[in-house]
Amino acid sequence: MNTVHDNLITIKNKINKIALDCDRDPKSIELIAVSKTKPVELISQAINAGQLSFGENYVQEGVEKITHFKHCMPDIPVVWHFIGPLQSNKTKLVAENFDWMHTIDRFKIAQRLDSQRPTNMDKLNVLIQVNISNEQTKSGVAIDEVADLIKQIITLPNLRLRGLMAIPEIENDFAKQFAVFKQMSQLLDSLKTDYPFLDTLSMGMSGDMHAAIEAGSTMVRIGSAIFGARQYV
Ligand SMILES: *Cc1c(COP(=O)(O)O)cnc(C)c1O
Repeated sequence: MNTVHDNLITIKNKINKIALDCDRDPKSIELIAVSKTKPVELISQAINAGQLSFGENYVQEGVEKITHFKHCMPDIPVVWHFIGPLQSNKTKLVAENFDWMHTIDRFKIAQRLDSQRPTNMDKLNVLIQVNISNEQTKSGVAIDEVADLIKQIITLPNLRLRGLMAIPEIENDFAKQFAVFKQMSQLLDSLKTDYPFLDTLSMGMSGDMHAAIEAGSTMVRIGSAIFGARQYV
């Protein structure tokens, strides 16, 4: 037993309780353990506790960890999610190493990932990052631009578009958190009319997981509540 193990149990119990309290199946919410800035030792502890999905924000750091676990635990099917901002000159490393990419915000990035995805790997699962809070945060596409970007992305053979992702502005009030997340789930619902295969809503972090799950999140990205506070972000 260790802290990471205990924290994982606590978080999973919380997710279960929140889900049941709002009549959702707890299994419809996947926990992504955000391991950015944290050493492979702590990730190993999480894997040993049964956690297999991890999120990384920095390309180089993520690729080092992926390479490490491919060598040290080749039989364990760890799933790696890229959740940070991505510059176009780093797309190749993401295409060649990750299983999911959460932060597509323009077609150029999607095109590069598509052409750089090795053909012997499964399609890269991708999410469109939506700028849900306001124009101040620069990442993500505006709500009214999402449909056009979807039309473009679904033409790319090596990507599998799965849904939407958002990082709302930090907000402590539950009702305000919920209102923003609800906008996201309504957007996904409306898109499902034309694109019924969309099945993923990546939203909710350590501080706003409860509101995100009530609003319909299918993937929560939890870092500090599992691995402890970070030295830098
Ligand atoms: C760091 C980060 C997280 C995890 O944040 P915590 O507050 O530590 O849970 C989730 N999503 C993204 C995009 C992040 O950058």
